This record gives sequence, C-alpha cells and structure tokens, in this order.
Amino acid sequence: MKDVFCRIIEGEIPSNKVYEDDDVLAILDISQATRGHTLVMPKAHYESILDTPKAILHKVYDVAQRIAQAMVAELGAKGVNILTNAKEMAGQTVPHFHVHVIPRYMAGEGGFMIEMKNNEGKEDLPLLVAKITHGMD
Ligand code: 5GP
Repeated sequence: MKDVFCRIIEGEIPSNKVYEDDDVLAILDISQATRGHTLVMPKAHYESILDTPKAILHKVYDVAQRIAQAMVAELGAKGVNILTNAKEMAGQTVPHFHVHVIPRYMAGEGGFMIEMKNNEGKEDLPLLVAKITHGMD
C-alpha cells in the first residue's frame, strides 16, 4: 500500500504546499507542532534517511535550510529545529523520508533531544567510536 506522502505527492490527498520542484515537495504538517511546522520530502519514495541517495538528501536539506531561513525572516521565528526520525523505534510514523522544519518562537520550550542518560563508566567509548567509524562509508 502507498504511504500517505506518496499519495500527497501524486495529488490523491490535498496538502498545503510550501515548496515544490522536480525532486522535492514541502508541505505544512497536518498537526502543527508550532506555527509553520513544515515537512520536506523527496518525491521519489525512500523509507527514511537511511536508504536515501546522497544527491536527493542534499536537495531535501537545501530546501529545509531555505525554509528555515524564511521562517526566521518572515514568521519571526527565533530559532528552528530541523530533524528527521528514522524507523519506528525512533518515532517515524510515515515510512517515506521527510525532514521536519519546526520554527521556535518562545524561550524555555526546550529542544528535541531525548533526555540524556548518564552512561559514564558503563561504556568503552573508544570502542563505541571504532564501531561507528567502521560502519561509515
Ligand atoms: P514522523 O512521525 O514520521 O517523523 O512524522 C510524520 C508527520 O506527518 C507527523 O508529524 C504527522 O502529523 C504528519 N502527517 C501525517 N499524515 C499527514 C497528512 O495526511 N498530511 C500532512 N500534511 N501531514 C501528515
């Protein structure tokens, strides 16, 4: 079955379009975390950032940056969160790669980082670094 963003891209479901070109679509999120909360996605279907080709990834983030700049310039945002959830475990609910661009207006709302756990002493940090760098292309 097609995911909801594929259906929006194909025009089967209406959306509030913020930006569109041959490869990228940006729409307002149906549930506005803050005023202007926008989703930027490739028109081609990739499940998450993990399987998206770099050329497409760069196009999506280029648009995300431009939208974030416009939020500061035109909406009066004092900051912006740009984030993506990859896989259900990380909170991804629509399996079509998308980047959230969330303008921030008020102080004290905090960030989107999960609460930091104090892992001091429990991890072999050089081993952790070695594993991550080994897995990078
Ligand atoms: P995720 O949880 O996968 O990172 O984000 C999915 C986002 O898509 C959610 O913030 C949700 O509100 C939004 N969303 C789900 N269905 C629709 C829809 O039909 N239209 C729009 N514009 N946004 C949607």
